[in-house]
Amino acid sequence: MCVSGCMDIVAGNLGRRNFMAAGLSGAAISLSSCSSLGTSERVGNKEPEPASFSSFREIFDLTHTYSSRFTHWSGGTAKVELEKLSSTAAGDGWNVTRWTLDEHAGTHIDSPFHRNPAGLKAAEIPVRDLVQPLAVIDIRQKAEKNPDAELTLEDLQAWEAAHGSLPERCCVAMLSGWDSRVEKPGFINFDDKGVRHFPGFHIEAASFLLEERKVLSMGVDTASFDHGPTTDFPVHTAWLGAGRWGIENLANLASLPPKGATLVCGAPKIEGATGGHSRVLALV
Ligand SMILES: [Zn+2]
Repeated sequence: MCVSGCMDIVAGNLGRRNFMAAGLSGAAISLSSCSSLGTSERVGNKEPEPASFSSFREIFDLTHTYSSRFTHWSGGTAKVELEKLSSTAAGDGWNVTRWTLDEHAGTHIDSPFHRNPAGLKAAEIPVRDLVQPLAVIDIRQKAEKNPDAELTLEDLQAWEAAHGSLPERCCVAMLSGWDSRVEKPGFINFDDKGVRHFPGFHIEAASFLLEERKVLSMGVDTASFDHGPTTDFPVHTAWLGAGRWGIENLANLASLPPKGATLVCGAPKIEGATGGHSRVLALV
């Protein structure tokens, strides 16, 4: 159980500066556990050093409330059913429900296994990989004019020219501004021919992150890493195929600085899950 604001209370008790370190050691993270980074990022058998995190002043929720109003990839709405098993209103003494959810709707993680039969499943992603520096790449200007806009290599180069090289083991998130649409059909944005139209990563940008930078995950505020019109999903194939993971349908990226936030991804620990609804926070 966690009452509203408990992270603030815990952070206050521990002292902001030490909160992350205390939380990480408290979770008994094994530095020898396998990483979702590919073997090419390792030096011999040695794991790369974990990213270090600075203190924070504010916590942002990057998670949409997941409900049956959420627009599903299919263009319909997500399945979110809470079956009442017992109810205080009915005099049972307890409120208990059983959930039936779409795995890949709402703010959710795509595990490598989603596209890659040899990849890790959601519950297998090491916890040390779920806390990362966060880089936010703002493509709102072009996404406003073009629903098929892509985050390109040039966008990454422009970010690096302004903010320095992307941090090692970071999450690179695309801010397109489409998070305001998640409960509208315009989120998936089908045209008359059944083609989807929304922003995503260009494969050249994803390849650069895989080959030239040690980036651990990607995030989007749209329904897919690949932009809407794709038919072969090259970004999903390359990214998840390389053992990386990512988060789709992020909220509130516009509240964050381009650099300096820390992403905390509460990925579901459900045996066999290929991804799933995640509580995603940013510490700034
Ligand atoms: Zn997904």
